Amino acid sequence: MSCLGCYKENTEGYCLNCRKKLFDGKRVSHMLPFKAPQNENLQEYQEQTKRLSISGVQLKYSLRLEDKLLTLTAKGGQYILKPIPPSVIAYPDQAPENEHLTMQIAGQIFKMDTAANALINFEDGQPAYLTRRFDVKADGSKYLQEDFAQLSGKQKKTHGENYKYDGTYEDIGILIKKYVAAYLPVMEVFFRNVFFNYLFSNGDAHLKNFSLIQTDSGDYKLTPTYDLMSTILHTPGETDTALDLFEGDTNTGYYQTYGHHGYPDFMELARRISIIEVRAKRIISEMTSQSDRVINMINNSLLSDEIKSKYLHCYQDKVSRIKVA
Ligand SMILES: [Zn+2]
Repeated sequence: MSCLGCYKENTEGYCLNCRKKLFDGKRVSHMLPFKAPQNENLQEYQEQTKRLSISGVQLKYSLRLEDKLLTLTAKGGQYILKPIPPSVIAYPDQAPENEHLTMQIAGQIFKMDTAANALINFEDGQPAYLTRRFDVKADGSKYLQEDFAQLSGKQKKTHGENYKYDGTYEDIGILIKKYVAAYLPVMEVFFRNVFFNYLFSNGDAHLKNFSLIQTDSGDYKLTPTYDLMSTILHTPGETDTALDLFEGDTNTGYYQTYGHHGYPDFMELARRISIIEVRAKRIISEMTSQSDRVINMINNSLLSDEIKSKYLHCYQDKVSRIKVA
């Protein structure tokens, strides 16, 4: 069998390396000792958000590790558990593995700093996505963390139901400049995230999916990346990006010609957030030349064959858009 964290060949649920990242080395079972929570009222999910997005319908549960057992907890959560979402979206049963695969691609192939994650099963065999919270310290206290909805003062009360989508990636870059002292490396990490989301058709990377966290020395840095998945598989009508790259990003020559974003649009975003041209070029070229490894990992994943092929198709489509430049 393969490790339910990193996919590497292994004899049990999680390999030593994944056990270290997820459970501080403890031998935790890949079967949760309880059943999947019942899907509650579906109506409610849809009312939670005007825009049908996976983040709007997906329920999350908080878990704590007690000895070697993961248990549901109301407070002091160290893990987030995301079961199969309700069937208002397409292929809901593929969502946990979609997120796990996308996070593993980001971490292993693109060397992005990602929240520790794995697939886990409920007692009845249903899969769920498991991720470790990075804002909780060993003693249970929390690092100060603020997402970019908070940092830009956007909330439901003042900016409406879709407040998380009210902004651009350039706006986030401007806030990074404001809050992070040595912002240039952080800006490159942010740019890589935005570009990754485009390549992997994550159309739900909204303001709350990027956050700053205070380090022990009091500085701010971006948190590890979280909530990555190819959302287009579940919400096919979705836009390519949750936020505009910058104000008026559909008026560019490229967009007007092709009807979607391409290389010049990402270079323009890079320029606006002060990333040196040669660095931006290198990032884009590195990130669009990993196809063999990406294809391998998709094939090794636990997605259904149908979804593997859709996932791959969407990825290759995005890569080809960038290479048209
Ligand atoms: Zn592993």
